[in-house]
Amino acid sequence: MCEVKMKKSFSMKKDFPENKALLSENLQAVEQTIENACGRSGRRRGDVTLIAVSKTKPLSMLREAYDAGARDFGENKVQELMEKMPEMPSDIRWHMIGHLQRNKVKYIVGRVYMIHSVDSLRLAEEISREALKKNVTVRILLEVNVAGEDSKFGAAVSETAALAESIAKLPAVHIEGLMTIAPFAENPEDNREYFQKLRQLSVDIARRNIDNVSMDVLSMGMTGDYSVAVEEGATCVRVGTGIFGGREYKAE
Ligand SMILES: *Cc1c(COP(=O)(O)O)cnc(C)c1O
Repeated sequence: MCEVKMKKSFSMKKDFPENKALLSENLQAVEQTIENACGRSGRRRGDVTLIAVSKTKPLSMLREAYDAGARDFGENKVQELMEKMPEMPSDIRWHMIGHLQRNKVKYIVGRVYMIHSVDSLRLAEEISREALKKNVTVRILLEVNVAGEDSKFGAAVSETAALAESIAKLPAVHIEGLMTIAPFAENPEDNREYFQKLRQLSVDIARRNIDNVSMDVLSMGMTGDYSVAVEEGATCVRVGTGIFGGREYKAE
């Protein structure tokens, strides 16, 4: 099935027990923040999915989050996903949120709940081709570079509707909505305009009534700004640091 030789890309070391207690408290605090943001904006808590972004974190912490109620997990690397998935309960919905290379598509199609990071027709074609082979349909989101940052992946705002129209013709992918990674901001209010922009774009695309495209999902908001994102209509927030603590990246 998975013929790549994988080196461990995340730490297997056990965490200190005091970290574990903290994790469930973190999760509860994030839940509360989402609920409050829903309250302020007249939304229901059930309209927002919290994705626990567990990249770089050891399995012990993922299990702790699972035990505390998390069922949606986000990872940004195919290899790490492949390593973690078989070790975790099967009722988890795995979200691929990171940049995806076409040659890695085959490993995750049929195994992840949703791919958030589709930003080209070529990538979508590869996903559809793999999905046909496996006789599945893949839920995808179109990643949009709303702030037009050079450093970011994602389709330009002006190109997204056309991209949706061409991807919609593929037989085995279904566009469920849009995703964005907003700029790093000290003040989350600075990102409000980008969340509004993504939401407006999803409304514009929905109005086109493209066959095989729905715009129900808005994946936006991370640890620094998810509260503002929920106020602006996020249906998925992707929170890593706020649940699992800061990340250490090791040099390869
Ligand atoms: C890492 C990551 C997140 C979570 O970031 P935090 O700031 O730790 O919450 C969300 N979305 C994507 C695409 C990521 O890569």
